[in-house]
Amino acid sequence: MGFQPSTYPSASVNDHLLDDNLPAPPSEVESQPHGPSLAPTADLGALAALPVELVHQILAYLDMRSLADFRTVNRQAAATADTLIEYGAIAAHAPTVLRSIPASETGRLMTSAALYATLRSPDCEKCGCGHFGGYVYLVTCTRLCYACFSRNIQWLPMTTDFACLSFGLDRRAVDALPERMRIVPRRYSPRAEPITSRDILVDRGAVIRAATAFHGSRSAMEAFVRVQGNQQALAYREQGRLSGMMPGHRQQQYLTGCPVNGAASSPLRYAAVVRVPWLKGPGEEGVEWGFHCAACLAACPSPCTPLDLARSRRLLTVELIDEHLREFGPIRNGRHHPDESQSPGDLADTVGESICRRGGWQLLGVWGFPAECVDSTCEI
Ligand SMILES: [Zn+2]
Ligand SMILES: [Zn+2]
Ligand SMILES: [Zn+2]
Ligand SMILES: [Zn+2]
Repeated sequence: MGFQPSTYPSASVNDHLLDDNLPAPPSEVESQPHGPSLAPTADLGALAALPVELVHQILAYLDMRSLADFRTVNRQAAATADTLIEYGAIAAHAPTVLRSIPASETGRLMTSAALYATLRSPDCEKCGCGHFGGYVYLVTCTRLCYACFSRNIQWLPMTTDFACLSFGLDRRAVDALPERMRIVPRRYSPRAEPITSRDILVDRGAVIRAATAFHGSRSAMEAFVRVQGNQQALAYREQGRLSGMMPGHRQQQYLTGCPVNGAASSPLRYAAVVRVPWLKGPGEEGVEWGFHCAACLAACPSPCTPLDLARSRRLLTVELIDEHLREFGPIRNGRHHPDESQSPGDLADTVGESICRRGGWQLLGVWGFPAECVDSTCEI
């Protein structure tokens, strides 16, 4: 149905995610610290007594940091890790993910088996409405769609200062949260906003759980956060500091727009996710990255809202093309024609209101942010 010419490879869109901001990959020599492709001269020591299948089972339980450390022991250790199905598949098909993990210091937070399982399943884990999730939020190793990571408040990580200030947590309590990552300072988000600090970011869900325990109940915690005042103003000040801009300038820039969508488009979201493929099966032919719909990309207005952006960036797989065309209408002259859709009855609620048919957007109303702003026309 003439769809192919209307799709672009994802390379035409640069959202400045963590994996777009990594230091250059190590040279051949650096990536093979024991020398290039020499045969191993040492064995695995005590582990050498075990059959390789058992060694693999043990390695699958190691977190990614420990596995990386194990690989550096000797050439035999590296070769053993590389033949682990999970690690080998990640290294072969998602090498930028493998490099993002040490750069963001998230290696302790996932095993190769957990990361592999995430890569093997295509759907966004948050909205659960069959959207292809082309992104992984590393701190919890969660596969997400663009709409969820860029708009849902849950995937806006925060600095430790912000967690202390806004949620009333003690510095030691925040420092003890394992769900954290290191910012790789560069430019993030479609606006390529600079983040110059190498601060730690903590997961919002982890902060909320800790703060709920600290304040005694969810409602007491929410009341504290509300009383704590204008959390958004704090967020802008924080962003201003991270980006190395004068706080006043940054705050002014944001306060002219909508606070909710300011949070929605925070570059911190983009600093915490990596673009990932779906590993459908063994071998290259089983690697699906998903692609953008050219008609949806073209339909994004300028300036656009975060909602426009999330709609335009929706990723498709071959399996989802038919459903997408049914939902948004066939493509002619580079645009969707919803009026020609086969099932016009379905269009009203999908095109007009939200991307997630289960209403994932409403979550933006949580945490004292006004819910009426979720579908606003704020510029980003
Ligand atoms: Zn989603
Ligand atoms: Zn489309
Ligand atoms: Zn969805
Ligand atoms: Zn708004």
